[in-house]
Amino acid sequence: MIPFLSLKDVTALHGAEINEAVTRVTNSGWYLQGKENESFEENYSKFIGTKYTIGCANGLDALIWIFRAYIEMGVMQPGDEVIVPANTYIATILAITENSLKPVLVEPKLNTLQIDEDKIEEAITPRTKAIALVHLYGRLAWTEKIAEICKKHNLKLIEDNAQAHGCLTVDGRMTGSIGDAAGHSFYPGKNLGALGDGGAVTTNDPELAEAVRTLANYGSSKKYVFKYTGRNSRLDEIQAAVLNVKLKYLVEDNVHRKEVARYYIENIKNPTISLPDTLPYESNAFHLFPILCEKRDELHDYLEANGVGTVIHYPIAPHKQECYKEWNNISLPITEYIADHELSLPIGPSITMNEVKQIVELINKF
Ligand SMILES: *Cc1c(COP(=O)(O)O)cnc(C)c1O
Repeated sequence: MIPFLSLKDVTALHGAEINEAVTRVTNSGWYLQGKENESFEENYSKFIGTKYTIGCANGLDALIWIFRAYIEMGVMQPGDEVIVPANTYIATILAITENSLKPVLVEPKLNTLQIDEDKIEEAITPRTKAIALVHLYGRLAWTEKIAEICKKHNLKLIEDNAQAHGCLTVDGRMTGSIGDAAGHSFYPGKNLGALGDGGAVTTNDPELAEAVRTLANYGSSKKYVFKYTGRNSRLDEIQAAVLNVKLKYLVEDNVHRKEVARYYIENIKNPTISLPDTLPYESNAFHLFPILCEKRDELHDYLEANGVGTVIHYPIAPHKQECYKEWNNISLPITEYIADHELSLPIGPSITMNEVKQIVELINKF
């Protein structure tokens, strides 16, 4: 049996060190807003290349706090529009609607599965205030053209880096540092995963950083004094300690992901399957390995019958969800095509090359 992702095996790669970190916090008697958060925020800022990291409860909250902070700062107002790829994981869109902002769904390109830069400008109106750029599947979504559009139309560039820890631009800048602010998730299955929920905002903007930190702490930066109606959305010390351990191995884990991806790219030969472009190859964090297959559901069942776990990311597009009924009748053919044909193959720091070979053999016989 080759599971889609074994979190047990992923944790076991650095199990002793993780257990030591957890025990250290357990025995310290200090569980929130302490040294572990302080050092993780410093380490993560250094890694991403931003002045500030603010830990928070999860990736969805990280994105929610960025938009909310811009509203509190007077940069955005409820009703303003935010451009977002239509095929993203729904959290990006939830963060926009949670703040009474209006998501404007833009189709991805079928060959990259990332937002189509050529369809962004036609979606811009006088109320457009930002682009929520999602580095989906751990692949670089940023392009020069997107940066130019932001500049030309005075838009904030907000990165959803939940799937892309360690993803680089061609000139070596880390995603999470190339926009005005970025939301990160440390959900266990992500490239940098905690042993539970966790998230962070990175930015170079001191005012935004202060607002996010305050919002995520009940709206308070001084004990018992409340500036905003915030919430309790903090990263706890145990998770920060675990993330400090795992951050040290992230680059090496991503190198293994690249090896797995390279093997899939070079060896999958099946006329019913197409692989999205992965250039620039070295820059990708390969969080997931999506393929498109004409007979996707059959392939899924066939692999499962042969002991290989796969997952669809994502089977129902956001605009087809019950929670966004108002969009159910709009047509986004590329997004719908991806929802009907995408399948993610196993990839991660713990899968062996031997397992990857077995998967490819099975796929080529399908
Ligand atoms: C996982 C994910 C999130 C949300 O992160 P959580 O920590 O699960 O709240 C947001 N956006 C994308 C693209 C994700 O994959």
